[in-house]
Amino acid sequence: MIKAKDISKSFGDLKVLKGIDLEIRDGEIVTIVGPSGAGKTTLLQILGTLDKADTGIIEYDGVLLDKLNEKELSRFRNKQIGFVFQFHQLLPEFTALENVCIPAYIGGKPRQEAEDRGRHLLEFLGLKDRLEHKPSELSGGEQQRVAVARALINDPRVILADEPSGNLDTENKQELHKLFFDLRDRFGQTIVIVTHDRELSGMSDRKIEIKDGVIYNG
Ligand code: ADP
Ligand code: MG
Repeated sequence: MIKAKDISKSFGDLKVLKGIDLEIRDGEIVTIVGPSGAGKTTLLQILGTLDKADTGIIEYDGVLLDKLNEKELSRFRNKQIGFVFQFHQLLPEFTALENVCIPAYIGGKPRQEAEDRGRHLLEFLGLKDRLEHKPSELSGGEQQRVAVARALINDPRVILADEPSGNLDTENKQELHKLFFDLRDRFGQTIVIVTHDRELSGMSDRKIEIKDGVIYNG
């Protein structure tokens, strides 16, 4: 379970988050919706420990993240959280398989083991014939599936996705959305998705609406 309590964040004079309280259960698929500039990305980055709140606390399964030092926090992030961004953020000079394996190498997994799992994941995502392709040789939908495989390589319990389908056409979008539900059903992952897509937020277990830095429904 992820628990956020009284999360506030300002950038200079701009108060972006004003006391967010949030609980997300294990295996839940939650969408975060709201107008552009509402603070959705900021909240997701804070939940993912990529950014720090000014006030408030975050707990994962009762572990207070404030108590971890930088090194422990990076390790925690590497093992427990998979990120999927709107623009895949794959490294252009590496192949699909290499991109997928990078978080495993960072986590200290032996090369062979990482590659076996990377191959397996890419196969599962329908990319068996694309292992050696560079990102520029892949379609938008394929790039995003590689990014999902990368998010899954360390078998994280939580996936945080920031407008993951914002850049995809209808077909690829629906496929990616279905994938999130498949993952949850097969592996029990907890998935938090920032999205503008009504179909996706409609399908999710819970929709959290955020506006002007507060949650007003959810
Ligand atoms: P959303 O994802 O809902 O569109 P964001 O969380 O990205 O919103 O941004 C919320 C507000 O905070 C916006 O007005 C944005 O310009 C501002 N903001 C976000 N990150 C920074 C930053 N690093 N420095 C200054 N302002 C920022
Ligand atoms: Mg955003």
